[in-house]
Parts: sequence; structure tokens; C-alpha cells
Amino acid sequence: MQILVALLASTALAFAPRATVRAPTSRLGSVWYDAQPQRRALIAGNWKLNPSTAQDADALLALLASNVRTMAAPPEIVIFPPMPYLQKALEAVDGTGIAVGAQDISLEESGAFTGEVAASMVRSLGCDWALVGHSERRTHYDETDEICNKKVQKCLAQDGLKVILCVGETEDEFESELLETIVSLQVRKGLAGVDVADADRIAIAYEPIWAIGTGKVATPEQAQAAHVAVRRALSEVLGAEAARRVRVQYGGSVTPESVDRLMAQPDVDGALVGGASLVAEKFSRICEFSAPGTPETAPPREITARVAVACQNALGESPIWSQRTNTLYWVSAVEGELWRWNCEDAPYKIVPRFGTTLGFVAARAGGGLLLGGEDAILSLDETAREAIVLAAPPMEGDTRPNDGRVDRDGRMVMGMYNNYHRAGASQGEDNSGLYRFGADFEYEELLDYKFRVSNCCCFPADGRTVYFADTPTRKIYAFDYPKSGKPSNRRLIWTQPPHWPGGPDGAQCDAEGMIWVALNGAGRVVRIDPATGAIDLVVHTPGCPTPTSCTFGGPDLDELFITTAARPAGGKLFRAKMPFGIKGLPEPEWQGANN
Ligand code: PEP
Repeated sequence: MQILVALLASTALAFAPRATVRAPTSRLGSVWYDAQPQRRALIAGNWKLNPSTAQDADALLALLASNVRTMAAPPEIVIFPPMPYLQKALEAVDGTGIAVGAQDISLEESGAFTGEVAASMVRSLGCDWALVGHSERRTHYDETDEICNKKVQKCLAQDGLKVILCVGETEDEFESELLETIVSLQVRKGLAGVDVADADRIAIAYEPIWAIGTGKVATPEQAQAAHVAVRRALSEVLGAEAARRVRVQYGGSVTPESVDRLMAQPDVDGALVGGASLVAEKFSRICEFSAPGTPETAPPREITARVAVACQNALGESPIWSQRTNTLYWVSAVEGELWRWNCEDAPYKIVPRFGTTLGFVAARAGGGLLLGGEDAILSLDETAREAIVLAAPPMEGDTRPNDGRVDRDGRMVMGMYNNYHRAGASQGEDNSGLYRFGADFEYEELLDYKFRVSNCCCFPADGRTVYFADTPTRKIYAFDYPKSGKPSNRRLIWTQPPHWPGGPDGAQCDAEGMIWVALNGAGRVVRIDPATGAIDLVVHTPGCPTPTSCTFGGPDLDELFITTAARPAGGKLFRAKMPFGIKGLPEPEWQGANN
């Protein structure tokens, strides 16, 4: 059967533009952090041209050494006294675990360079670290990125010497939203030619110049956004794997009062402290920042998503990202609307005449879309102007297509929905099935039992597992998913805890094999490790308790898009930038022909 269907409406709507890192008083930039934050905190004290006498240096060193000796679990600590105090500092901190570093090193190695100090000299004294590119050296001594790069190379040429490269933007650059451009350039130029094998001997200190010595500390969220930019630049120079390992410190008016909130940011791995490092009690307190727990005991990291499209869907569902068109598609189920948005232009709403309720949308091989309507499975052309009925849905009783995704072999796997449930009935028959709709237009029922509300259907990269939940049971199962034949070996991977209302709704797998599940009713999307059931990330949908599904999108598949339902307050599309290193998988396309 082929019926040409006119599309009734196509509406452009306003949308919330993507935020960028902004001026100190403005809205915050996107939030990323590392998926496996195993980096040991690195707290450094830069004494600069202080204190004025060797005796004062002795007093400071003695206090600091005794404070650190009593710390239960100190982070990695390094102090950068002036050159004449290096030897005494090494002696004073011996046995405390505190390392000592030089505030600068020469471009030269030896010879007639009066006043210079070579990397080999500080290393042979016993220094473990050197600072390169502090903004005061860049500003007062005209140190360019090229000079910084040469100094980095000089340090790395010394066996065992580590280097902190300082980067940061001026206030004008910050106000002009040039933060990312500036720090990215400084990182890339400062580390040009560095061998990835030396990545573990490098740390970056992000120090906004407007915050150094001014008392104007960046907000934790600003620091986090900047550190993501640094890490992105690191991944360009050293690769993603090394970028995950390199520690990125924040510097700029860090105090005992500000350190905890800064260190709670997932990409803030330490602090470079100026003024406060000259007062032993302050620096010690900074070293004893209140850490967010060890990896074994850490609570899940939390991100807040923000509204991307104020679409007011009665029941937003089934988001997919098409890499073919760089477009996000989703449906508003009960209104029978198809939505599309390329993240730049205004989003569009399309209302096909068939299928008053739309359960899912999928991409079709060769272009165009597949739509799961209550009355018909539809195929839409590339422009989404014409729809063709491909088949009737696999109706059994009072059901309709609901959640579904294309499997990694290009077949549509759709679950049905018991319409009793839509009417709000707490009971109702288990009358819905899970079906595979192949290129031959045939349905194959996949499970040997019925249920009420199909959800969570998604597939990891190898396509040989399928996840599935009957929402009212609040349980998610994994099944082995062979290329042909029925899923088997059902196993429970997660049960929604009693203190979270609602149930598991739509889900998506990421490139690391974790599943992201929208908890409709609980106002969050969680990332679950299917091997252990552990949640390591939570994305909140503020003001909206009803997230319905999610998917990864954007050119790098590193943003999570979340559909929501309007009841009791929602209906908007949310987006959240992913922590560094977390990405989605390309959405497979349905392989059936368009007839
Ligand atoms: C610094 O000089 O590196 C620095 C961050 O200084 P302060 O902590 O005093 O702002």
C-alpha cells in the first residue's frame, strides 16, 4: 500500500541559543568533566619574589612541613620558592612528601648568560618541578608561547623533571569571549612537539589573568568550563587518552574559602596558589580541601542540563541524531508531531496526517525517516514533506508503537504500549509485545512474554545486546541479541530505587557501553554501568520531573539531548554537554526500501 500523505504543518519556533563561556558576571558555559577522574590532586604554591629574607623562608618552610606531616591523606604538593631558597626548601621538606620546584628556568643550558638558571641545575639539586609561562613572566618579561615551548622542552629534556605550563586570558579577552581561543592556542603552542610519552610529566595551570592576585576568583563553573577547553586543546596535541590523564590546576586568588567548591569540579585537578601559599595555615587548609571522595566511594557526578528548545511537547519522545543531516529528530507522541532541529536554525515541527500518535522516529538508509504511528508505519522523504504508509503497526489489543531503536543490523526494534496505561489506569493487561521490523517489511516478535509499556530499547556498539524495560516494573533487563533469532539470556541489570518516583523511560547507549536512562518522574537521566548497575553520572532536568528519552548528538556526538513530557511541568528539549571523553554512537539507519 502506498499512500501519499500531505504534511499539514511546518512551524519554525524560537529556540534557546547555545551558551558559551561568558564574562565574569554572565551565564555559565557548558559543563564537561572527565569520565574517569582518577587524577591525583596537585596543589602548588608559587611564592614569587617572597619572602624577603632567608629567615622568613625558614619559618614558612618549618610550619608548612609540620602541617603536612600531620595530614592524613595529603594531595601531591609542590612549592615554588625563589631560586636562592631552593636548597633550604629541599632540606626542610625532606620526608614530608612535599616536592620543590623552580619558578622559571633558562632557555640556555650553560655558558655566558649572567643571572640565568638552567633546568639541569635545578634538577640536579633535587627539584622535581619547574613553572613555565606564568602570566607575570609573559607580561613583564615578554615571554611568548614560543619561548614557553622552548622552556617546556628544556624541562622535559631533564630526566624526571616535571613542568607546569601556565595559561590564561586577560579580562578583555574574557569579556570578548575569547577564553577558549586564547587558552587553546597557549596550550597548543606551549606543548608543540612534546612527545605523548612525556604527558605524565606535564600539568597545566589555568590562571585567568584577571583573577591572579586580585581577589577575584573565577566561579567553580567558569573554572570547569575553562578546564574543559584546556583539556580539549590537550587532546589535540597529545591525544584524547593523554588529555584525560594530564592534571589541570586552577590558579587565581585561591583561598581556603574558595578551594572546596573549585576542587569539586570534575575537571579541576588542583590549584596553583600565589598569595595564600605564603601563609602556612592557609596553604595547609587549601591542601586539605574537602575532596569529593575516592573513585570507589564517590557519589555519582552531577550535571544540570539546560533548555535547548522551548517546544512544550505534550510527550516528547524518541530523540535520534542523524549524522547524515546533522539534525536532531524527535516526536511529540500524543500530538503526532515530528520535530527536527540542526542546533543552529529555528526548530521545525511537522504534523503528518497519518498516525495521530507517533511512538518513534528513526533514520532511513539513503535518507529520509521512518515513523512509528498509531495507525501506520510511515516513511518520510528527505525533506519530510511527503509520507508513505509502509505497513500497519503490529496491533494486538489496544496498543500502539512506543519506544524503539534501529538495531546495529539496520532493523527497527519497536516495543508496544498498552493504551490502558495512557489513560492513567494503574492496572491493565500485559498485552504489548516487542517486535523487529526488517527490510522485508515483516514483523518478528522478539520476546516470549507480554508487558505494558516498552521502553529503554537500545543497543551497544557491537549490537549483540539489547536493553529493555517494562516501565511500570521499574526494572531494566539485558538480553543477548543474536543477529537472527530471538533475544535470550535475560538478566536484570538495574532496579529503580524506591526513593526515586516514576520509572525508566527511553534510553541510549554510549561509546563506552554504558546506558543512559531517562527516569520519567525522577527529573533526571542516569548513566548506568550494565555490568554492575552502578550510576556514575546524573543529568538533571531542572524544573522538569519528566524526562522521557535521550540521545547523543552534535558533530562529535558529545552532547546529550533529552526529551521531556509536559506533565506536570516540562515538554521542553534539554541539552547537556558531556564530560570529557564521553560520546555517543552513530545512530543506525533502518535498511528497508522506501516502498
Ligand atoms: C599565581 O601567581 O599563580 C596566583 C594564582 O596568585 P594568587 O593566588 O595570589 O592569585
